[in-house]
Amino acid sequence: MDASVGKKIRALIVGATGFIGQFLADASLDMGRPTYVLVRPGQASPTKAKSLKALREKGAILINGTINDKELMEKILREHEIDVVVSAVGGGNILDQLILVEAIKAVGCIKRFLPSEFGHDVDRAEPVEPGLSMYKEKRRIRRAVEACEMPYTYICCNSVASWPYYDNTHPSEVLPPLDQFQIYGDGSIKAYFVAGTDIGKFTMKAIDDERTLNKTVHFRPQSNHYNMNELAALWEEKIGRTLPRVTITENELLALAAENRIPESNVAAITHDIFIKGCQNNFSIDGPRDVEVSSLYAEESFRTLDECFGEFVTRIDKRKEITY
Ligand code: NDP
Repeated sequence: MDASVGKKIRALIVGATGFIGQFLADASLDMGRPTYVLVRPGQASPTKAKSLKALREKGAILINGTINDKELMEKILREHEIDVVVSAVGGGNILDQLILVEAIKAVGCIKRFLPSEFGHDVDRAEPVEPGLSMYKEKRRIRRAVEACEMPYTYICCNSVASWPYYDNTHPSEVLPPLDQFQIYGDGSIKAYFVAGTDIGKFTMKAIDDERTLNKTVHFRPQSNHYNMNELAALWEEKIGRTLPRVTITENELLALAAENRIPESNVAAITHDIFIKGCQNNFSIDGPRDVEVSSLYAEESFRTLDECFGEFVTRIDKRKEITY
């Protein structure tokens, strides 16, 4: 009998102390997968130390290492018999994955690699600079993966469910506004908003799904397709009052992008691509390499924006309790 039959898929998560990576590691552990977490050596900040402690307590196996070290990565992948590697390195470290790809290629038995994507389809979207440079790096990783015929899945989860601040890389860590809304353009361009926990859950479901092998998985939950005006109305309903609206024009977004301040200008460039150019809607996903996540897992529901915004209100209430 094949020794791999019945064996649980062992996933190595790179970047589990980061914003997206934590959702992935948590989901992997919640699903009962043997979960290995690569931890970059060096002094951990209190937040990083806390999240590593929480991951260890949930059952993650922590391994020291960096993906820039090919020999070490080969050793880790072999010794721990890793099946799937999921990378969520941040925007500044995308090209570090070139060495990781070399290590995976050398080991030769990794069943799937998910490079750090978790946004738009970088082969189709064309944001202004400096967003475009980051997309070019992600494209370079895709081409390296495809050149060595490594099994892969690209996760294009669109926007994280939260207020899409144009100058904040991790918007769901910040509450939606309580003073005024900044609306991009006329606020009519729609985007898909996905809860971080759902990004983790559906990514970890996809890692060993035959239907996602060598495919791009698009997250387009119809229930979470909102424009800025609708998003503002939903938040007003939650907080029980209306807020003034200020328009952020296309030129203002382009001016911030042109300042080339990283990461703010990247976020401005991508915000422009989403809410002015409509990059999440302006192509169809019926190509041979495309799959849509809600049709793959039709029995599973997505957390709605209504629920996510409800949770933000709870956070505000908790803060008030602490202040009183
Ligand atoms: P973060 O900057 O929050 O975290 C990056 C993680 O990668 C950290 O754990 C970091 O470790 C680790 N890391 C970086 N370089 C290395 C390396 N060489 N070896 C090992 N580990 C490394 O990243 P984000 O979560 O912001 O970004 C992850 C991906 O998600 C990116 O592709 C980004 O573009 C995308 N994204 C998408 C969003 C969306 O709205 N759809 C929002 C935000 C990100 P350490 O703790 O040591 O620094």
